Amino acid sequence: MRLFTCGCACGFGASFAAFAPADAGGAKAPIPKSGGPAPRSVFEDLAAASRILADQGVVDGFGHVSMRHPDAPDRFFMSRSLAPALVTADDIMEFDLDSVPCEDKGRAAFLERFIHGQIYKARPDVMSVVHSHSPSVIPFGLVKPPQGASMRAMFHNAAFLSEGVPVFDIAQDFGATDMLVGNNEKGVALARCLGDHPVVLMRAHGSVAVGPSLPMAVFRAVYTEVNARVQASAILVGGGGPIAGLNAQEAALADAVNLGAGLRAWDLWKKRVGAA
Ligand code: MN
Repeated sequence: MRLFTCGCACGFGASFAAFAPADAGGAKAPIPKSGGPAPRSVFEDLAAASRILADQGVVDGFGHVSMRHPDAPDRFFMSRSLAPALVTADDIMEFDLDSVPCEDKGRAAFLERFIHGQIYKARPDVMSVVHSHSPSVIPFGLVKPPQGASMRAMFHNAAFLSEGVPVFDIAQDFGATDMLVGNNEKGVALARCLGDHPVVLMRAHGSVAVGPSLPMAVFRAVYTEVNARVQASAILVGGGGPIAGLNAQEAALADAVNLGAGLRAWDLWKKRVGAA
């Protein structure tokens, strides 16, 4: 049985000290070297992903998607701070895994870019990260069982949720905050709570979905939101009684199909945002 929170309070010890200079403010950190050029199609796909997430109702004026540099595992790409529906390939910036921009053009970066950098650092298997405040998901991070329900896989497209979904409570380690993962220290704590899961909920904030590719991270972000709506409906329909969602064996079988067939949705979604 998975606990509601995931024990994120474990001590981080001396590892935090390494972040102190970059987060201290004032002193300007050196500009990290680029991981090298990437094909234009990479930036176009990442920009399309941003617009897809807006089109699918996962992000609104806020939220962001990133992808690891295909040739440099210690770099990632992400839009400058901009509403997701407006992102084009020219808005994409490159960062190192401490989320320091590899450029000095004065373009503003997202406040919560540390979510992305620290997850890439902790999870070599992750190639793409989506952070959103998609509204149907938020209740599952607010109400603890047994009064509330843990998020579970309700249908085949959401099979990736069957292993359980941890809930990151930023207050556990950081007390009263603005709720934002606005530095590397908070990014480390969130990545730790995510563990090896595909999704982590963030109490009173939103969620993060990760994947082995850009289309799969987008797929998971979309179906985390859809699953939340279906689960809330199932709770209402069933009066809070047992729900016959996917069992572990069904989820494993369904997820294997999704990892291939998910690309069909990607092609459709790209077309909807004029990026086919
Ligand atoms: Mn946020």
